[in-house]
Amino acid sequence: MFVFDRLDKERRDNGWVSTARRSRNFRYMVLDSESHPLYVRDTDRITELPLFSANVSPSHFKTNSQGVLLGDRDGELIFCFDSEAMGPEFMSMTEPVDSRLVAQNLSPVDSSIFLMARALNLWSVTVKFCGRCGSTTEQLAGGVSYRCESENCRTKYYPKIDPAVIMLVTDGDDQVALGRGRRHPEGMFSCFAGFLEPGESIEDAVIREVKEESGLNVDELQYFASQAWPYPSAIMIGFVAQARKTELILDSDEILEGRWFSRSELEAANKSGSQMLPRQGSLARQLLNFWLNS
Ligand SMILES: [Zn+2]
Repeated sequence: MFVFDRLDKERRDNGWVSTARRSRNFRYMVLDSESHPLYVRDTDRITELPLFSANVSPSHFKTNSQGVLLGDRDGELIFCFDSEAMGPEFMSMTEPVDSRLVAQNLSPVDSSIFLMARALNLWSVTVKFCGRCGSTTEQLAGGVSYRCESENCRTKYYPKIDPAVIMLVTDGDDQVALGRGRRHPEGMFSCFAGFLEPGESIEDAVIREVKEESGLNVDELQYFASQAWPYPSAIMIGFVAQARKTELILDSDEILEGRWFSRSELEAANKSGSQMLPRQGSLARQLLNFWLNS
């Protein structure tokens, strides 16, 4: 398994970063305007990161874009570029592959590198100008921060990450409450979820979101796990919570259907590979699998 180092110390040295860009170990991936990764055409190797090497293709860059330094994976210095920086030759030999498909097929380490690339690339287009004074910004630390170029301002920008909570609500016994949100296909049920609001603790958000979406009062919160979710820049924080088994009062703006499900009903759906459950690999599915196996 690969070891990945985000090079927090080295990246603060601009000289180090430009030397890395010229080194023999320089590797890069390219993301298109929607941050889908470009692979060599007709590849069947989407279980690997699509890394290109400058030694093979120095003429592929059309601009002197600096790219974003992602880090060191077993000695390879990995950068990420926007497809805007690439010339026609590179573009004609590659094609985008859907980012969700890629993320779920990579190893955990490569998936984390890829999601970092995607989140930074999506964010970088929003910080080209200072939100405070409108001046242009400059890239710092290999692309993980930006700074306003105006002498009088110098505001610094760091990647924005939106925390969201996702909860499996159980009755403390053999049932869980699930809902079908607006974004979910007909017949599919998942955990309640939502974004944190300013001034709120994570626990407050869990209690509020479940109450808003389902009308249930939860307690006995138990942290489960978290998952980066760069669509565009969220982190999902998973909990198991308990509620008294009462009728659900749904927030019809967000939740189209919802009810209590029994363990045997979910076990059957799990076994048959039914579309009723959330996608494998998602935090919602991990929560459900955890509960089914406990
Ligand atoms: Zn400024």
